[in-house]
Amino acid sequence: MPNHQGFHTRAIHKGQEPDPVTGATVPPLYLTSTYTQPRLGEHLGYEYGRNDNPTREALEEALASLEHGEGAVAFASGMAASDAILRLFATGDRVLAAEDLYGGVYRLLERVYRGQGMETDYVDFAQRQDLEETLTKKQPRVVWMETPSNPLLHVIDIAEVAVLVKRQRALLVVDNTFASPYNQNPLDLGADVVVHSTTKYIGGHSDVIGGAVVARDSELLDRLRCIRNTTGATLGPFEAWLTHRGIKTLGIRMERHAENAAKVAEYLVAHPAVETVYYPGFQSQIASRQMRTPGGMVSLVLKSAEHRQPLAQAAAVLNRLTVFSLAESLGGVESLAGHPATMTHAAVPKHERDRRGISDGLIRLSVGIEDTQDLLEDLGQALDGALHP
Ligand SMILES: *Cc1c(COP(=O)(O)O)cnc(C)c1O
Repeated sequence: MPNHQGFHTRAIHKGQEPDPVTGATVPPLYLTSTYTQPRLGEHLGYEYGRNDNPTREALEEALASLEHGEGAVAFASGMAASDAILRLFATGDRVLAAEDLYGGVYRLLERVYRGQGMETDYVDFAQRQDLEETLTKKQPRVVWMETPSNPLLHVIDIAEVAVLVKRQRALLVVDNTFASPYNQNPLDLGADVVVHSTTKYIGGHSDVIGGAVVARDSELLDRLRCIRNTTGATLGPFEAWLTHRGIKTLGIRMERHAENAAKVAEYLVAHPAVETVYYPGFQSQIASRQMRTPGGMVSLVLKSAEHRQPLAQAAAVLNRLTVFSLAESLGGVESLAGHPATMTHAAVPKHERDRRGISDGLIRLSVGIEDTQDLLEDLGQALDGALHP
């Protein structure tokens, strides 16, 4: 299947050649831990399931194509994928991470890698001067960013960061989970490595955990495969199959997520209970340059009311939602609402959260693909809970 074809065509056909034995249009799911060898010293390219599985390879072919990489390595989760990248480095190597970062990655850097002598500095990547200064002063080997970021949905100019990072010969890692490969391809903008939690938009149906790394450097990809095989952070075949099934509709889902999110963002801006709305579509310059659509995520801060704690206010809204589920995670077909301060970012200390703007009144929405009107009505009735307790 040639690589110049459109996104939807590749999403549907990459790694999905009909089965040569039976003609099955959808390739079979290989549930096997091992492979029978015809003779001692001979095998068909598959030896043991921790390293080799055709179902997972098919998924990797699709992921590599959609992210414009040379190859992809699928892991048991987004965290396992992130961890494998950090294992490429050693004690004494420094990490520079964007301040607005997925809570789990922050925890990995602080609770695991710092203890092993890999220290991380955090800066706001939108502040170009801070970024440049820290790069020269701290000489990091790896630079880690997300865009749009989590939970404040800041859009960072990947190409601009890539130029600065290349000068330092550091490895630029972009977590592309929030955008998905439909909206943005960081490798085209100068990133060295793209990491995904495929649990989110790529899987798309909130029924499977997985992660992946995509890159162009085949030596780097081989080292990651070796780390995966050695540590056992492999994605199981059934998870690979489900994720690949989800990918086929990624493009149309992303279009619909974007349509709904734009309407939700507009609605929230006009609502009297809402103080601030964070939405990549409102930071249009960089977003429109590097993203196909602004995506499906919207965050909001409730207007503070007298005699009410922001946490109690947020709870009043979240507990009233009925179409939106109160849940961690994002990127599924169903709309989800979360409270970063107590959920996804609870691992970030309170003073750090306050400094970064992750207040108790902050709510993060993963806008699903339901009927727009039902989502707006649900938000409307729930936000009334913040105004009239
Ligand atoms: C969920 C998420 C992760 C972690 O992925 P898991 O699949 O949950 O391990 C990493 N980065 C971002 C941006 C995420 O949203």
